[in-house]
Amino acid sequence: MKENRIDQLNECLLTVSGILDELLETQQENPNLLNSIENWIKTHNSRIQLQRNKNNGIFIRSLDNQEIRDDALFIFDSSFHVICYSGTQNFFSDSKKTNENNLNLLDIIEEADQPKLKSLLAKAIETGCNKSMDLRIKTNINVLNNCTLELDMATSNPDNNTFVAKLNFSEMLATQLLEYQALILDSLPGMDIYLFDCNCNYLFAAGKEKERFELNNIQFIGRSIFNVLEKKAVRLIYPCVAKALQGVENEGEIRYKGEVYYMKGTPVKDYNNEIVCAILFAQNITSDKYLEEQLKKSREDALNSDRLKSIFIANISHEIRTPLNSIMGFTEQLEKIIVNAQQKKFVDLINKASDHLLYLVTEVVYLFKLGMGKVYLEKSPFSILDLLGELNDIFQKQASDKDLSFKVKHDESFPDVIIGDSFRLRQILMNLLVNAIKYTDKGGIMLICKVKLESKNHVDLVFEVKDTGIGISKHKIPHIFNVFEQGDKLNASFRGGAGLGLGISKNLVELLGGHISVSSKVKVGSTFKVQLPFDKASSCLHLPPKTIHYDLNKDAKLLSGKKMLLADDDEHNRILAENIFKNWNVDLNLAEDGQQAIDLLDKNKYDLALIDIHMPNKNGLEVIQHARSDNQSINYKTPIAFMTANAFKSDIVNYIKAGSDDYLIKPFREAELYNKLCNILAIEEPAINENILMVEMKNPEVLQRDNFSTTELWKTANGDRAFFEKMVNNFIAKAEGLISVFNKGTAKGNWKEVGELAHKSIPSFKYFNLFNIAASLDIIEENTLHNINYKLAGELVESTVLKVNEAINQAKKSLEANC
Ligand code: ADP
Repeated sequence: MKENRIDQLNECLLTVSGILDELLETQQENPNLLNSIENWIKTHNSRIQLQRNKNNGIFIRSLDNQEIRDDALFIFDSSFHVICYSGTQNFFSDSKKTNENNLNLLDIIEEADQPKLKSLLAKAIETGCNKSMDLRIKTNINVLNNCTLELDMATSNPDNNTFVAKLNFSEMLATQLLEYQALILDSLPGMDIYLFDCNCNYLFAAGKEKERFELNNIQFIGRSIFNVLEKKAVRLIYPCVAKALQGVENEGEIRYKGEVYYMKGTPVKDYNNEIVCAILFAQNITSDKYLEEQLKKSREDALNSDRLKSIFIANISHEIRTPLNSIMGFTEQLEKIIVNAQQKKFVDLINKASDHLLYLVTEVVYLFKLGMGKVYLEKSPFSILDLLGELNDIFQKQASDKDLSFKVKHDESFPDVIIGDSFRLRQILMNLLVNAIKYTDKGGIMLICKVKLESKNHVDLVFEVKDTGIGISKHKIPHIFNVFEQGDKLNASFRGGAGLGLGISKNLVELLGGHISVSSKVKVGSTFKVQLPFDKASSCLHLPPKTIHYDLNKDAKLLSGKKMLLADDDEHNRILAENIFKNWNVDLNLAEDGQQAIDLLDKNKYDLALIDIHMPNKNGLEVIQHARSDNQSINYKTPIAFMTANAFKSDIVNYIKAGSDDYLIKPFREAELYNKLCNILAIEEPAINENILMVEMKNPEVLQRDNFSTTELWKTANGDRAFFEKMVNNFIAKAEGLISVFNKGTAKGNWKEVGELAHKSIPSFKYFNLFNIAASLDIIEENTLHNINYKLAGELVESTVLKVNEAINQAKKSLEANC
């Protein structure tokens, strides 16, 4: 670096000599001045010398390069007129000035510093001593630089009006900065920057990468891209430059000599928006590319491994579920025919063991799906009151088997229809309730449901499962939500636990955006609390149709006389099915594989077909597709349910899309099969043998479809008479209010109010089984708020008011009847 500076200094000295030449010419009238300066310097400063060239010009020359320490040296008179100067910087670069004879040191010194310099010179002359000061000097590009100026009185000759000042920059020179800039640009790792003129000649080249072309900067500048680069490189790079020169910013990747480059061409425009040149930016992204490819590969590997795991788990689950179907089915059949008490006990044990095995397979598969993020949440409207009723039915029975009490309670303000994932909610509550019953030996269990937070569109519900069971010790509580963790292993295994339920529940609750907690006291009981967010349902229009519960034990003949096809390659399952369907008096055809099923479907008309998915020759999916492919075929409209031991929802969705109407997951119990088939065939519902008042109705149509029923309410009330009455009276008041608003609204044309009330009232009419009225309310809402048709709405309001009056009468009678 130092050598560099010395070279530069010498270069500048040469420049100065040129200036001195001119000086010499213009100082013809006083040719002795320079002679005397020269002589004087000779005697006073051993380091520098004014030297004449052959044209009689002079320049400052250093005698000992090694000792040069100053960045600049000025010789000037007392008015600061510069006689000559040297330095790494051409301070008076302005050509006009350099040619003139009036270079003045003050011109390049910041204004504020000028008086200080003047007084410094006066002091130096007065004392004869060297004086120095810090000042700011302008460089040739008008950048102010901090520097130290020292008046060298030893070399100066005040008598001859000649002074010498040495200048040293405190900071880096702008030129040096530019040099560094160029150095930095040239050393950019993996990156090149080129500037091209409009003829594709290089104006500038920087960056390490260009070394790949075995060229240095100089070899680029001023040369055409076609002369500098080899053919292949031109083919790759030229289009990018050409596009930029046409004004199109462009980018892309190229591969050259085993390396990958990211290229970006950018047009450069002047003030008139004319393209003057193009910048080409090239970055070596070989290592990034490599990493990207590695990452892609790892991702693919991970996905493949996930896929393999998925297939493995699906297969294992399938392989266990298929024989389990036979075990459970035959055990049920056996149960019906044996009389011996001990044999009955054994059968009961097989039943329990297979239930447990099924639970384990289901939960392990579920856990696996959760871990792989393969549990997809649903968002659809459902009746939470229906769900609570269902849980009540299931756990009432289980609790009474253990002599425990069981109650479901909910706030009065508890909503009916909400939007969310009813299946997951059911699963979470089932897990907690199963545990509550499992870990409780006396007392009872309560499911308390409350509204926690409510906004215009959302509602947060809290479900508390309280039991009076064995409780959980404090130190175990933090672990019970971990999968395979059990509070008390002995106790848990004695009670048939696997350590999965709470782990799965916690995962599900969090997936749904809620949280779960527990408080417990040993030997007193536990309370599990789940808070979950739901959307409010604005309309009941989209509620899925209710499934009817057909009780096999009460009426096993509902399918009698139906003709059905069952296709299953598993011989045990066919034998089992034959036995079951014979008892139901169903005319059953059996197929051993997919092809047989297709042949039978082509030949015979069936009321229903049950098709297994995994079958040889043609699989179940192909059978379903065949049946749905020709709308002229005899079974085109026949309901088809598929059976599968594959509990993966993505597959199930595919089978449904293929045209099946419903499905059964193996293994299933006989009652489940019966219920499903009756539902698919929409068999007329058997009379409900419950404490319901049947009222004589005037209108037979209403009697048939709109039967005020308190079944749901009884389930929820669970024997609580006061609650029952409150709910029915509440319904009566609401229904009377509706009649009044409807009558006034239609008279005054206040349709908005009518429509809004119709919408609001639908859930409570549905709750009391008044589906006909609910459907009318739906249409009233539609025709008053959305697709306006007041005439139709008016007619419907009239007939609906009559029906609602009828319902009010029935409700009142139900109160009397249940006294
Ligand atoms: P398990 O199948 O063992 O019941 P869970 O994950 O459902 O697995 O529960 C984990 C542990 O938490 C259980 O082993 C038990 O010790 C404890 N536990 C869960 N619910 C209750 C409860 N209601 N009362 C007492 N202990 C419970």
